[in-house]
Amino acid sequence: MSDKKIFTNNNGGPVVDDDNSKTASKQGPTLIEDYHLIEKLAHFDRERIPERVVHAVGSGAFGYFVLTNPEIKKYTRAKVFTELNKKTEVFVRFSTVAGSKGASDEVRDPRGFAVRFYTSEGNLDIVGNNTPVFFIRDAKKFPDFIHTQKPDPITNRNNPDAQWDFWSLTPESIHQVFILFSNRGTPYGFRHMNGYGTHTFSFINEKGDKVFIKYHFKTAQGIKNLTKEEQAIIPGKNPCFAAQDLYEAIERKEFPKWKLYIQVMTLEQVKNASFDPFDDTKVWPHGDYPLIEVGEMVLDRNPRNYFAEVEQAGFTPANIVPGIGFSYDKMLLGRLFAYSDTQRYRIGANYMQLSVNKPHGCPMFNYMADGHMTENEHIHKINYQPNSIDAYEFMKHDDTTLVVDEKFAPGYYSQDDDYYKQPAAFLEVLKKQGGTEYDDLVSNLANSLKLASKTSIERMLAHYEKVNAQFAEDVKKIINA
Ligand code: NDP
Repeated sequence: MSDKKIFTNNNGGPVVDDDNSKTASKQGPTLIEDYHLIEKLAHFDRERIPERVVHAVGSGAFGYFVLTNPEIKKYTRAKVFTELNKKTEVFVRFSTVAGSKGASDEVRDPRGFAVRFYTSEGNLDIVGNNTPVFFIRDAKKFPDFIHTQKPDPITNRNNPDAQWDFWSLTPESIHQVFILFSNRGTPYGFRHMNGYGTHTFSFINEKGDKVFIKYHFKTAQGIKNLTKEEQAIIPGKNPCFAAQDLYEAIERKEFPKWKLYIQVMTLEQVKNASFDPFDDTKVWPHGDYPLIEVGEMVLDRNPRNYFAEVEQAGFTPANIVPGIGFSYDKMLLGRLFAYSDTQRYRIGANYMQLSVNKPHGCPMFNYMADGHMTENEHIHKINYQPNSIDAYEFMKHDDTTLVVDEKFAPGYYSQDDDYYKQPAAFLEVLKKQGGTEYDDLVSNLANSLKLASKTSIERMLAHYEKVNAQFAEDVKKIINA
């Protein structure tokens, strides 16, 4: 066989010319028998798939996770968190939220922080953000909230009043809005920020005992945020700043690392907590629920093909493994449906068969069959259950079952209305940090709020009065200046 590389069509057959279309004469017309031309144009027409409606701008990298604390087995029987020193492959995708593809990855916005562990018991996805809380706590509000972040339906431009109108009518968002307008709202690339699982999950140990937990990834690179000058220049000068920073650091072998911690609440602590532990607009105070080290995550490989591995990555918080379950967190429960539904829409029913999405650590088996892009390995002799020919076993425990008591009887409940205590605690954290942290929040937030309507401004300031009168005053001063 010749060593020469032959340029072929998709069927493997050789192509005569990839530069000039075949024509009937020197002057044309173009012949439809130039099948390579037809195939090339038709494929190009299909190069794009629908972008994610949120988190469209993102970067990814592969690496590994190593458990460093053997004590975690007290809480969960998940092998990824019980087998000491074992390397589990991970894939991480960082993103912004509101922008469409092509938008800068360095604007003021929360950052998505989605981690997939390819464990020996199936893929585990922790699909969080770089902020410990979220704007809303009920998935029913998500489409409305995102509409306020996306371009206006008539002008197709951002509408600051829509944002502030919604936020001022949704006081549970105050906490996250403070964090968004603090300096952590503009992290320096993706390597210098923490990640949080955002939701409350449950851990179940070998004996079947259940606790509730929160995930925290702390950056080993140290927190670093854009300076005011960088905020003004970088998004315009280099819209892919964060993507470049991550990619080049990995190529230089400066592998970014994060330590994974959990916070734990027993069922007893859940019952006695002074706030709703399933409300994702609340943090669990560190003083009462200390961070417990779990292990370390290192990113050491860039994707080989951005589109295949990052654009087509489909995360979902529904991807859990034995020893881990969900919680009553209403945002989490809504996301269990919405995330995989997004991928079915964008990529197709078989998105889980793609290399970045399929389990790497264990086989996958069920009778879901056929559909676009089915791979041979998913064709079985038998395609129904029960059957007497090819028997498979089922897991004995259902770790996703929630503990149900009378507090959780069906109904349309709103969660607690303590909107102000934790945002007030956040202001104290900033003041204690010193430097310009507090003043930066005041000016970042006031300069955005002043673009809103008088009604939204007044409604928002009335809430801030209840958080901290001095803060409300400080914001008002800049708005009226
Ligand atoms: P602590 O006083 O024990 O700790 C405050 C935490 O705030 C730090 O551990 C750090 O979390 C985070 N933090 C520190 N500086 C900044 C900053 N400049 N911008 C944003 N976050 C910062 O806090 P509590 O647990 O008692 O909570 C007090 C307030 O701190 C909360 O209301 C919340 O707003 C904020 N916070 C709390 C977190 C939690 O999970 N308990 C996490 C992050 C913020 P980290 O090391 O995770 O970055």
